[in-house]
Amino acid sequence: MAVNLLDFDAAGLTAYFAGLGEKPFRARQVLRWIHRFGQGDFDAMTDIAKSLREKLKAEAVIVPPAIVSDKFSDDGARKFLFDVGGGNAVESVFIPEDERGTLCVSTQAGCALDCAFCSTGKQGFNRNLMAAEIIGQLWQVNRVLGVGLPGERMISNVVLMGMGEPLANFENSLTALRLMLDDNAYGLSRRRVTVSTSGLVPMMDRLGDECPIALAVSLHAPNDALRDELVPINRKYPLRELMTACLRYLEKAPRDFVTFEYVMLDGVNDSDEHARQLSSLTRKIPCKFNLIPFNPFPGSPFRRSSTPRIRRFADILMNAGIITTTRKTRGEDIDAACGQLAGQVMDKTRRSGRPLIGIHEVRSQ
Ligand code: SAH
Ligand code: SF4
Repeated sequence: MAVNLLDFDAAGLTAYFAGLGEKPFRARQVLRWIHRFGQGDFDAMTDIAKSLREKLKAEAVIVPPAIVSDKFSDDGARKFLFDVGGGNAVESVFIPEDERGTLCVSTQAGCALDCAFCSTGKQGFNRNLMAAEIIGQLWQVNRVLGVGLPGERMISNVVLMGMGEPLANFENSLTALRLMLDDNAYGLSRRRVTVSTSGLVPMMDRLGDECPIALAVSLHAPNDALRDELVPINRKYPLRELMTACLRYLEKAPRDFVTFEYVMLDGVNDSDEHARQLSSLTRKIPCKFNLIPFNPFPGSPFRRSSTPRIRRFADILMNAGIITTTRKTRGEDIDAACGQLAGQVMDKTRRSGRPLIGIHEVRSQ
């Protein structure tokens, strides 16, 4: 089978080129063509010797996941659906703002961690995305938006906050992250690339060692009893371990704070007492809070907290000295808001092999 060059970061491509008897600077040149210039055609790589181009054409390909749909939200967010084969599809969302453009990327087809309030989790898990499928989302959207040079691109920030748990697909996410940071590829600064995790403690340590970038942790509850229910991975890595893992990460992180994400669920985790517990839980951790109004999806038992409740909750945290923002919900009308990404996943974990079409996709087709 042909080798997909999108699966390689700089080190991987250099090793592959060495196997072909080619020098490292050739690998660098090709890396630039692929990622800096968004080129998918070997024949267009004009400064690469024809003999090498022929060799590459014979045994390698540059194949991203295909875009199967592209929808605009009234608020400017844009959702892309990618076919990743075998009946599975994943989503990316581009969120333009005044000062930046953020692409939210998926790392798995489905998710095995089954958080109570998450549409992706409710679909079950099919498989990890390949590095080519993760970076391929950025490669594709970049081309759709107009490639441009690094620094002038529409996409200035990337968040691994789409479908799936990035740290449960560590190696492939890492390869994609290295490409995002590589000056010969996307050249993004470590502060502009964020991984969001539900709290896989050992993998947080590995990320800190191997590729420290901005970190967001999905907290969602101030005590173990409640978090065990909402974020089941908490039963394996309870809050005390998670908090110390955050402190360890901060020793290596490019930013001097961790972002705690907190979904606001009416009557579940949004009381004054919960806010006070949160401030004492995180007392020793330099952090910011990002409150996410719950985004409903069909079949979910939860409701979004009211706006005054969210404001009051934020006030309690702020009065305790914690910078707290409330996430503006974007892309709701196209089911592109946080936790609504459904794509299409053949669930291998619970209902073996049965296609589970994202309810949203059915409704909006
Ligand atoms: N698996 C990773 C990243 C993907 S989820 C994680 O859990 O952090 C990205 C964020 O969306 C997480 O904070 C997640 O808890 C949140 N989220 C999931 N479902 C949501 C929903 N229905 N409404 C609002 N936020 C949700
Ligand atoms: Fe997985 Fe994140 Fe959804 Fe939890 S919130 S089920 S970890 S994608």
